[in-house]
Amino acid sequence: MPLEVLPTESHESQPVATSVDGALTPIWGLTLPKLRKFIEEKVGERPYRATQVFQWLYRQRVSSVAEMSNLGRDMKDAIINNFSFDIPKIHTRLISQDGTRKYLFEVDGGDLVESVMIKQPNRMTLCVSSQVGCALGCKFCKTGTMGLKRHLGTHEIIGQVMGVIKDAENFNDMFTNIVFMGMGEPLHNYDNVTDALRILRDPEGLNMSARKITISSAGLAPALERFGKETDVDASLAISLNATTNEIRSKVMPINNRYPLEVLLQTLKNYPLGKREQITMEYVMLGGVNDTPEDLKRLPKLLHGLKAKVNLIPYNFNNGLGFESPHKDLPQKWQGELNKQGIIATIRWSKGQDISAACGQLVTDSKRKPLARTNPEAAEAAPIKTAVLNSLQPN
Ligand code: SF4
Repeated sequence: MPLEVLPTESHESQPVATSVDGALTPIWGLTLPKLRKFIEEKVGERPYRATQVFQWLYRQRVSSVAEMSNLGRDMKDAIINNFSFDIPKIHTRLISQDGTRKYLFEVDGGDLVESVMIKQPNRMTLCVSSQVGCALGCKFCKTGTMGLKRHLGTHEIIGQVMGVIKDAENFNDMFTNIVFMGMGEPLHNYDNVTDALRILRDPEGLNMSARKITISSAGLAPALERFGKETDVDASLAISLNATTNEIRSKVMPINNRYPLEVLLQTLKNYPLGKREQITMEYVMLGGVNDTPEDLKRLPKLLHGLKAKVNLIPYNFNNGLGFESPHKDLPQKWQGELNKQGIIATIRWSKGQDISAACGQLVTDSKRKPLARTNPEAAEAAPIKTAVLNSLQPN
């Protein structure tokens, strides 16, 4: 999709997946207010019934309507006749030596998207996809090489979350945080992503705090501005900065031609933040491209006046896109210098490199040659990992 036609306000004309059978409404795509409306108008039941259903889905996490014990027979039949409960199938699950789990989910129409469970000290983060492919074409990103195929529906985004919740039973763990940092630019799929946030945040739903959910954007300035004005939905914000000059940023992130640094940074300065909130500026360090001494001098100046911290991400994927890792000492040097300037900087070493955890790498690999399928029901991870890793060749 050419950047010229990137929607900045709404994507209503974009194709959004519907139920596979075309008749049933995917229940995972409905926020509580939408479910109430549907149940009132189409099923003829009182709105509180929707709250009961929502609680069964997200609090009790039942897997069948039969288990919704406070609903009468007629109501259960109406639900079965109106809604689809399908969640995306796990096509492949890979487990890294560092504990990272990567999922390839098969969404509507057989498209594949990635989700990753990343183990970190004191937390576990689930990274979900928002689109099949991506229109933004960042040069260091495998997903960017795919172009945009389509937006994911809300039910496919929540479906990834519910699929991982179900599979986490096999590992006796659970995510504590969710980041929209998988395939796609989440704010390009604005309406479906914000509905997914509403479901994640709803006290009757997954009841997650805004601090535990992060939207990561390449910098669609008008959509960021719109998101800042939303009154009923919220999340933390991460921005892929990745350069200190327009020249370099436009080279590695073509979206910069449309929303250059000065526009993006002004939008972020205007963004309403709570007292203790900060924007995370992601900086993928590309050896010899954006990690020069001049970049290090410019970065604090760029961030002046912005409530922001910096996440340095040394690029170290051998994914055939022509970029190099930074010199091994540079991330610490940058971190020290930024800290000296009063800017909190952390280094995020990439996880799960043995399982192609770079965004989009697994999908593109699976298109080149079929991956071994895992048995999603299996609790034993190691043989699966070995089987699948053996089928993958490094790029
Ligand atoms: Fe799209 Fe994000 Fe990849 Fe850029 S880095 S191409 S915005 S998925």
